[in-house]
Amino acid sequence: MATVLDSIRNTDAARPERLRDKHGRAITDLRISVTDRCNYKCVYCRTGNEGAVYAELPIEDYLRIARVFVGLGIEKIRLTGGEPLLRKGLADLVRELSQLRTLDSTPLDLALTTNGHLLEELAEPLRDAGLSRITVSMDAVVADKFARITRVPGSYERVIKGVRAAKAAGLAPVKVNCVLLRGFNEDQIVPFAQFSREEGVIVRFIEFMPLEEDRLWTPESVVSLTEIVKALGSFRPIERMAPNTASETAVRYTFDDGVGEIGIIAPVTQAFCGHCSRVRLTSDGKIRTCLFSQSDHDLYGVMQRGGTDEEMARFIRSTVEQKEARHHIGEPGFLKPSRSMVHIGG
Ligand code: SAM
Repeated sequence: MATVLDSIRNTDAARPERLRDKHGRAITDLRISVTDRCNYKCVYCRTGNEGAVYAELPIEDYLRIARVFVGLGIEKIRLTGGEPLLRKGLADLVRELSQLRTLDSTPLDLALTTNGHLLEELAEPLRDAGLSRITVSMDAVVADKFARITRVPGSYERVIKGVRAAKAAGLAPVKVNCVLLRGFNEDQIVPFAQFSREEGVIVRFIEFMPLEEDRLWTPESVVSLTEIVKALGSFRPIERMAPNTASETAVRYTFDDGVGEIGIIAPVTQAFCGHCSRVRLTSDGKIRTCLFSQSDHDLYGVMQRGGTDEEMARFIRSTVEQKEARHHIGEPGFLKPSRSMVHIGG
């Protein structure tokens, strides 16, 4: 029987205030990098140099951090890296996270982004652990071009098997993310449209951002949303689809016959910072409030000093409040962020 205390606990006043930044944006989306190791050396991401120092926390520490965030109103967690499938204990983390409930008592929206190299073996164990959907990064649908981008021979064949294993395991939707980089793969737009239609996967093109270890980025290297839309239209008439949510990053399209779905994520030419609901946790336990932040906030340091969950929550709240209004890509004086994508967690 419900007691007076229960009814007090259930009022909004008794609930913790949800994370919000000083610009009024609700922060509901957390990306956790579980390693900064990667088995690919994609040209637009890494230099390919060996010898980096890797940083990972014990799985139970990511879990504790995730719990504190969820207690503050996080509704969606995406696991990423580096390459998350390299991380020992990943399925255990997925199992625990899939049990978490949001402040509204709904299941947490749990997602994972991978390069797909190890997915053929891991799709089923991850599904069994409670993962329901997955995003695979693929930058070409032609084997030799793919291997030139990842700098790993045989990578295309592995990733295609991974995508198909994810579908066979019932992970749905399977999304495929493609970063377009002029001079490397802008000729892949129409082949990816055909891939979406034939494989029944959602393909999303992402504009190249200045987050790479090498100095490749120039405004001209970006294949823009406008160009992508034009190329798709030359293949078949396209139709705009309604957004799934207000903070959705992708502009969605299908074709005139309704077969295939293409999303375009345009952080450079059509920035969506005003709707940004994301913060990131790096694999060494630092909070990043924007991909382009110049500094990190050492949440793990609070834990290591014996901080309680309440102290961690206070640290998170005050960090998130300071989230940058927007990025300044392409503007005079733009500074590259203090870490590259593989060390932030994409
Ligand atoms: N290894 C996993 C993967 O390949 O999906 C997860 C980490 S990876 C850094 C996450 C995503 O960031 C990938 O889709 C990758 O293509 C994208 N990415 C990396 N560098 C980028 C850049 N400079 N601009 C845009 N996207 C980038």
